[in-house]
Amino acid sequence: MKFGTKAIHAGVEPDPTTGAIMTPIYQTSTFVQEYPGTHKGYAYARGKNPTRNVLEKNIAALENAKHGLCFSSGMGATDAVIKLLKPGDEVITGNDLYGGSYRMFTKIFEPMGIKFHFIDLNKAENIEHYINANTKLLWVETPTNPTMQIVDIAACASIAKKHQILFTVDNTFASPYLQNPIDLGADIVMHSVTKYLGGHSDVVMGALVTNSDEIYNQLAFIHNSCGATPGPMDSFLVIRGIKTLHLRMERHCSNGEKIAHFLRSHPKVEKVYWPGFEDHSNHAIAKKQMKGFGGMISFVIKGNMEETFRIASAFKVFSLAESLGGVESLVNHPATMTHASIPKLEREKAGVVDSLLRLSVGVEDIEDLLEDLKQALS
Ligand SMILES: *Cc1c(COP(=O)(O)O)cnc(C)c1O
Repeated sequence: MKFGTKAIHAGVEPDPTTGAIMTPIYQTSTFVQEYPGTHKGYAYARGKNPTRNVLEKNIAALENAKHGLCFSSGMGATDAVIKLLKPGDEVITGNDLYGGSYRMFTKIFEPMGIKFHFIDLNKAENIEHYINANTKLLWVETPTNPTMQIVDIAACASIAKKHQILFTVDNTFASPYLQNPIDLGADIVMHSVTKYLGGHSDVVMGALVTNSDEIYNQLAFIHNSCGATPGPMDSFLVIRGIKTLHLRMERHCSNGEKIAHFLRSHPKVEKVYWPGFEDHSNHAIAKKQMKGFGGMISFVIKGNMEETFRIASAFKVFSLAESLGGVESLVNHPATMTHASIPKLEREKAGVVDSLLRLSVGVEDIEDLLEDLKQALS
């Protein structure tokens, strides 16, 4: 099946009791048994819920994976992957990671004895310098946030295989429509479903998918034991959101492309970060592993913090807010919003200067978005 058909149909069956074409919201915490131990696959809703199961099958299908698990947030999903490790184990990951992942790794898991190496992943060869007998996990995010660096997933996968290291990709920014890391050799794909998969800024959720029965069984055990599982109403909203994922992503990409070029030629803009530019340092890799370049764009304004704040608050269609991937366009000031917890010096080294703005380009009409950018920058 092709992507759009899977988005609409994968995992979805008419309701067995009524024939309802839409998956019912099984708003229940427990399931009745006739005799002790005779449940019909469902005993207690933390372990399994029929609405959530449909969504898990659907997301797995979108990533060409065998198994899926949904979590109550992206961070809940990330937490479950790190819990596969033991004290003394080491992790190699990028130095411009999602802020929440960085915070979890350094503030929660480092004190528990897991060591993290935050390195430049622009060149996959760098990884091997940090591998030793304790290295158990390679955790990659691509494109990165907010400077849209691209990591070569296939190259990472071959290094991870050679050294028998578990390889996880946070595929939130690309969505399964633009990039499928399992096909490129990843063991686990993580999503903040909150973003493009949900797509309507009304749910917080996470997901993990894998092809390995063994990894799935371990993750499912953690999922049920630690309990970061989402409710049926949220699962329903995401099943509904995903039905238009392919259509939304096409528009995010085409709007994104026009806005990236508009910004690049604007006299008030110093620099634009977008992997679709031919002179982006890893454009060739982006072209190879992604179906399109998405709707995430960051740009540096010529001017100080005050001028940046003036522009950030002057938008009429774009809303000033954290998060991304919804149908509505958002603008974010990373230095004071999404990346405020990173010390200034470190933040600026990663390109997150005070005059940087990040856009999550939505699916509105492009004329209105360009008009809004024009007036805000004027
Ligand atoms: C938002 C986000 C997360 C965290 O997901 P939540 O659903 O907010 O918990 C992880 N990684 C990336 C790249 C994100 O954008």
